[in-house]
Amino acid sequence: MTNQNAVPAEAVVAIAVAAVAAAASSPMFPYPPPRACGRKKKYVSQLELGGVRISAWMESMKASSPTHAKAAAALSAVAPSVDCVLEEQSAWAMRYPSALSMIEQIVSASKGKRIVMFLDYDGTLSPIVDDPDSAFMSNAMRAAVKNVARYFPTAIISGRCLEKVINFVRLTDLYYAGSHGLDIKGPEKPRHVKAKAQPVLFQPACEFLPTMDAVYRALFERTKSTPGARVENNKFCVSVHFRCVDEKSWSALFEQVRSVLKEYPKLRLTQGRKVLEIRPTLRWDKGKALEFLLESLGFANHKDVMPVYIGDDRTDEDAFKVLRERGQGFGILVSKFPKETNATYSLKEPSEVKDFLVRLVQWKRLSMKARTKCK
Ligand SMILES: [Mg+2]
Repeated sequence: MTNQNAVPAEAVVAIAVAAVAAAASSPMFPYPPPRACGRKKKYVSQLELGGVRISAWMESMKASSPTHAKAAAALSAVAPSVDCVLEEQSAWAMRYPSALSMIEQIVSASKGKRIVMFLDYDGTLSPIVDDPDSAFMSNAMRAAVKNVARYFPTAIISGRCLEKVINFVRLTDLYYAGSHGLDIKGPEKPRHVKAKAQPVLFQPACEFLPTMDAVYRALFERTKSTPGARVENNKFCVSVHFRCVDEKSWSALFEQVRSVLKEYPKLRLTQGRKVLEIRPTLRWDKGKALEFLLESLGFANHKDVMPVYIGDDRTDEDAFKVLRERGQGFGILVSKFPKETNATYSLKEPSEVKDFLVRLVQWKRLSMKARTKCK
């Protein structure tokens, strides 16, 4: 099989330039901030927001996505280190090879197993855009996901509220987990399920709804004075987007968020790509949602299942970690830049995710045809 994932030399240099920019503001592999929900149950609202780690948060906010201007400045400042960055980039690519170039190994590992597909939405199926309401997926991506769902049980797990992600994807045969898995719904007529499968409808944080509404309103009011700040109510998660906020105002914005969260000790703060997210302090995340869905589908204790999770964000690491711990399936990180990750493979951007899904379906169709011929 040819390597369809070969990257032209100029693209490699462009990626390296941007990576130098990321490295200039923080060590390379900037997967932001201090975890909000760790084993010690020290939540951001009680600890990280206390002041000690605010500088770490600011650094991670800066590192979350290098801009072209930063890239150019960083290149001129540290041009001699481009070689070094390229070296690091290629070492990372060896460690987390492209899922496209490894597709033969991936499908051969699935022999005798049932692939179950889990997909993040923003930055995985849709491009990251300035206006979160305009993060539309392409028709080609929608067709690819539809075909995947025809052959494999497929779930979308997103930080967005359930209704929003369903409206973006607009496919009926899928399982959807909104608000980082706090709001889960299955298709009305599920297929691919095992005999023990249960109807899927799950909302473990129902009692937080009034609090989430209140914190949304408070954050909306408090951040009004920061131009470009955008507060989004994702039902069980409130998102404060700072993609369009001038970097000089990030510190003020963080202070505004912090001052609101002081009043809500049962909420915690996490960070995604240019977004601060406020969620209930429940020990529930995308990894737990993945496990819940596997169980609901009837695959909980099955060895013949191969879950595949594709995501681009810090919050997707919880799902990658679950797969590593189960020793089942694998995670695929979508990133142009080297990052610390629990994933096994990588893809650079949503267009590569689409190509991966298309090739998976092509392989499935061919293998089904071959099986029919043999009978
Ligand atoms: Mg994402």
